[in-house]
Amino acid sequence: MAKHWTRRQVLAQIGIAAAAVHTLDPHELCCAVPAHAKTTDKDLFELKKVADGVYAAVAAAAYKVNSNAAVIVTDDGVVVVDSHSKPSAARAVYTEIQGITKKPVRKIVNTHFHWDHWQGNEVYAAANPGLEIVASQRTRENLTRPDAGAGGIPFIEKQLAGVPSEIEKLKGDIMRASNPEMKSRLEANLQQAEAYLQELKQLKPMLPTRTVSTTVTLHEQGREIQLHLLGRGHTDGDLYIYLPKEKVVATGDALIDWMPFFNDGYPEEWVQTLNALEKLDFTHIIPGHGEVLPKAHLTFFRGYLTDLITAVKTASGGGATLEEMQKKIADQLAPKYEQAMSKYPLGRYRDRIGQNVEMVYRKVVKKG
Ligand SMILES: [Zn+2]
Ligand SMILES: [Zn+2]
Repeated sequence: MAKHWTRRQVLAQIGIAAAAVHTLDPHELCCAVPAHAKTTDKDLFELKKVADGVYAAVAAAAYKVNSNAAVIVTDDGVVVVDSHSKPSAARAVYTEIQGITKKPVRKIVNTHFHWDHWQGNEVYAAANPGLEIVASQRTRENLTRPDAGAGGIPFIEKQLAGVPSEIEKLKGDIMRASNPEMKSRLEANLQQAEAYLQELKQLKPMLPTRTVSTTVTLHEQGREIQLHLLGRGHTDGDLYIYLPKEKVVATGDALIDWMPFFNDGYPEEWVQTLNALEKLDFTHIIPGHGEVLPKAHLTFFRGYLTDLITAVKTASGGGATLEEMQKKIADQLAPKYEQAMSKYPLGRYRDRIGQNVEMVYRKVVKKG
């Protein structure tokens, strides 16, 4: 039975109720998007069939971003991987799931602790008594650690402190908007930010009720679901959900169709972890963001990580400053990666390359 915690209860429980709340650094946002990103209130998700009884709920591009979900129907219930950034988004997916099956949702699996992958857990818990929420042991810890990064209960407090200034900035941008099209986009973003703030204030964080610290097989009725811990990568607790019979893997943000987000990541280990993932026999990837992908995308995405790491090491070895590296490497890797890493209005090559270079420089070259 999933236990309901209020945010305050959890904060008190972990002894950080009085922890300083600081303003949100935009770099801390897992999936911060440019203010001009396309937004829609309806059609938040499209449910796409990947195999018999296996679906990807592919999130539409939205200013307040949502993760994808994997929806796996078993003989006696449903397993859902990731629950997006907010209850309203989880509700939208849950409604779509109920259009496929009236079976209860038995399990939620959270791939990692980032805010846009778990903040909708409460919706499934409220509607499904006995729901289990499964995550890696490390993810469970990260969800309450004040210094964990871009997700968890302390990060909700940071967002509550940060979103009001984001709203003020959007209001200022709207006043200064030079054309009607830009203005209406910003107004839509403002609406989303205001609605998101209201949801954040009401959020009832639902932490994992079951953790795994090694690879396990869930023997659901009529469906084998494996949970793999393959090493550190996008975070230190990434979980891969693998269906051996259907040859499908759900990867969270360890493998996406956007540019990667490195802030809580381990660039060199990430490459090794993807090598381990490659050994599994699968044909389809349900990524954390973007459309369902073929296995070949792993090679491409890992190629970007290795080329980026090599480029940063070479440039810094040659004495380049961070700013010089950011400019040089952005142009250097563009022919191979810019187009394929800019398919969506979010997480595009030029939006993230500077930040990617900086993170790899700090984590790989400066080791800290
Ligand atoms: Zn994400
Ligand atoms: Zn993430």
